[in-house]
Amino acid sequence: MVRDGSVTVRVPAKVNLQLAVGAARPDGYHELVSVFHAVSLHDDVTVAPSDALRVVVEGEEAAGVPADETNLAARAVLLLAGRLGREADVLVHLRKGIPAAGGMAGGSADAAGALLAADALWGAGLERAELLELAAELGSDVPFALVGGTAVGLGRGERLTPALARGHFEWVLALAEEGLSTPAVYAEADRLRAGRVLPEPRPSERLMAALRAGDPVALARALENDLQPAAASLAPGLHATLQAGEDGGALGGVVSGSGPTCAFLAADAEAADELAGALLDSGTCRAVRRAHGPVAGARVVEGGARE
Ligand code: ATP
Repeated sequence: MVRDGSVTVRVPAKVNLQLAVGAARPDGYHELVSVFHAVSLHDDVTVAPSDALRVVVEGEEAAGVPADETNLAARAVLLLAGRLGREADVLVHLRKGIPAAGGMAGGSADAAGALLAADALWGAGLERAELLELAAELGSDVPFALVGGTAVGLGRGERLTPALARGHFEWVLALAEEGLSTPAVYAEADRLRAGRVLPEPRPSERLMAALRAGDPVALARALENDLQPAAASLAPGLHATLQAGEDGGALGGVVSGSGPTCAFLAADAEAADELAGALLDSGTCRAVRRAHGPVAGARVVEGGARE
């Protein structure tokens, strides 16, 4: 499928362990505290020399992903090519395992993956700080996809600090039939919270302590997402999904980001397998995925510098 001289980058999905959303800022963005956690659901982004910029999308979660220059991976390649003063003459091949419009930052992951892959293909050797700066230009969730692990994002979510976290967590992800548009979920949150004085978002001490302790029970109790009421308002089926997770033995569950994917924490791998079966049997979701976290950010898995 992909010609020789290509570079493939594997890049993880994220769940938000905390998403605290403040008031809308004058620039339209909301002030956030976002605790990102990279999980073992991933996309593979391959960049190969070509006569012109082209995008091919494959994989089990390819539905709804544009195969043109509006694709975030194509935008990343164009941005880097512009910075380097060269043509963006590459084929970008995406193998999607991350659901589109699922609240797991799949598009951002592809943008991060394409930046790293094109940098390696072209032998540009950009410093990490430069890649992170380009990533932030592409979108608030893109820097985290480069960094991975568990990290606290401030501002629009793009100002990252690694979280002190230990341990390894077992997740079950319930994927929904229909995606949700991130701007629509923020607009619904603004509508639901209209007239309320919103506190400045702050990292949850309870969550940070649970991460430092590597304690899944405490972590499950500390999961929180200010966008969850808005996501469930637009997709009322999420109430049944969250209930099915609880009934299936999850330690806790939360809508990830702007949804509609629900992330459930399990006590161990065996409990996660049982929970995955229960969620699938409940008929409240399209598909179920097992994952663990934290995992590393975007990394080259095949190919390397050419030219
Ligand atoms: P977030 O968690 O950052 O809010 P999301 O996971 O809800 O994002 P994405 O999968 O990143 O949403 O994509 C949102 C929309 O962006 C899609 O509906 C699709 O039209 C468009 N899009 C552009 N490029 C991509 C890509 N590479 N993968 C997925 N969607 C993309």
